[in-house]
Amino acid sequence: MLLRSRRTFSKPHKVFTDLREAEKEIFILNPLGAPIDFLINNLPDWCNKEYKRGNDVYNPFKMLCTCEEYRESAGEYEPMDYRRVCRHLYAFYMQRLKKDINPLAVLLMEQNKKHGPEELIRAELSGKEFYYGFQRTSEWINIYCNENQWIRFSYNIAQKRWSENIAPKNNEAFVEALKKCFTINTKSK
Ligand SMILES: [Zn+2]
Repeated sequence: MLLRSRRTFSKPHKVFTDLREAEKEIFILNPLGAPIDFLINNLPDWCNKEYKRGNDVYNPFKMLCTCEEYRESAGEYEPMDYRRVCRHLYAFYMQRLKKDINPLAVLLMEQNKKHGPEELIRAELSGKEFYYGFQRTSEWINIYCNENQWIRFSYNIAQKRWSENIAPKNNEAFVEALKKCFTINTKSK
C-alpha cells in the first residue's frame, strides 16, 4: 500500500434521474485536507500474466485491462490505484488474491464496486490512522477505521447521524474531527 497526495480531483459523478432534482440546491462537501491516491502493491509475481475473459485481456499484477470500464477509470486515477479496478480485475482479486491484499484495500475495493469511486483523505485520531471516503455531492461521509479489523462507518453530516445508528468507538471524537475536515456549501442551480 502506498499513499500520496492526488494531483487532480476527480469530478463528482452525479446523475439526476429527475429534472426537478437538478433544480434543487446542490450539496457540495469541501474537504480541507488533500485527497490521496491509494495504490495496491506487492501483488504476487505469479499473477503477472495475461488472462482472457471474452474479448478482454487483463493482467492482475499490473492492474491493467482492455475493457471499457477500465479505460474510463484509468483516465481518472494513477496506475495501481484501487479505483481503476474493473469487474474483471475485481473478480480476480476477490477470488484469488484476497489474502494477499491489504484488508483496507479490500474494503475500499468492495465499496468502490458497490457505490462508485469516492475521494479519500487520510487522517489520525489519537495517533491512529483512519480514512474519510466521500463524494462531494453526498451528505454521507464514510469513515474507515481499524477496530481490530478495518471497518466502514457512515456519517450524515447534514442530518448529524450515523448510518443505522452504528458508530465507531469514541464516535464523538470522530464527529469533532470530521467537522474540522469538511465544510459544506449549497449552490443553487
Ligand atoms: Zn476489465
